[in-house]
Amino acid sequence: MDSQAKLHSLFPRVEIEATVSRLASEVTRDYHDKPPLLIGILKGSFVFLADLVRLLNFPLEVEFVRLSSYGVGRQTSGKVKVVQGLGSSIKGRDVLVVEDIVDTGITIAFILDYLKKKKPASLRLCALTDKPSRRRVQVTIDYLGFTVPDKFLVGYGLDFDEQFRNLPDICVLED
Ligand code: 5GP
Ligand code: MG
Repeated sequence: MDSQAKLHSLFPRVEIEATVSRLASEVTRDYHDKPPLLIGILKGSFVFLADLVRLLNFPLEVEFVRLSSYGVGRQTSGKVKVVQGLGSSIKGRDVLVVEDIVDTGITIAFILDYLKKKKPASLRLCALTDKPSRRRVQVTIDYLGFTVPDKFLVGYGLDFDEQFRNLPDICVLED
């Protein structure tokens, strides 16, 4: 790990816990009687999804899709690719996509479009964080955790060059 990295906590773990719990209540209200398929976008969503599903006390299934958008560092390439797709059909399923952060919106717009073509009964988005100041593509976030400033965030699943995913807080990585 880079010992020179300057980090400051933006959302400490207790605040994240409260927010994930609020999101779990919203998801429970809407899906408790229609078992959803949660699709986590790898890798960033894995911590959030793990915490979220343990607060959902009704039948559900979990799948993952792995995309590549950011190559290395902080710059988006603007090109999204499915690196690992779905293992099974989502036709007729109530699908809830779980994402770590919506930044320009390019990644999530791409995956929502990709999934929509597979004819789910419904398709919604749950995002832990939203950086609206950077948006380039319009995206509807059905369940949102935090609106965040235009800073580079790490921790709670979010990485910088594969580091910092294990931090329990959401932190700002200073230049
Ligand atoms: P978008 O396509 O919306 O610009 O970018 C979405 C993806 O870029 C996210 O899923 C995430 O992997 C990455 N990303 C965007 N902003 C940040 C950030 O502040 N920190 C980290 N670690 N990744 C980010
Ligand atoms: Mg991501």
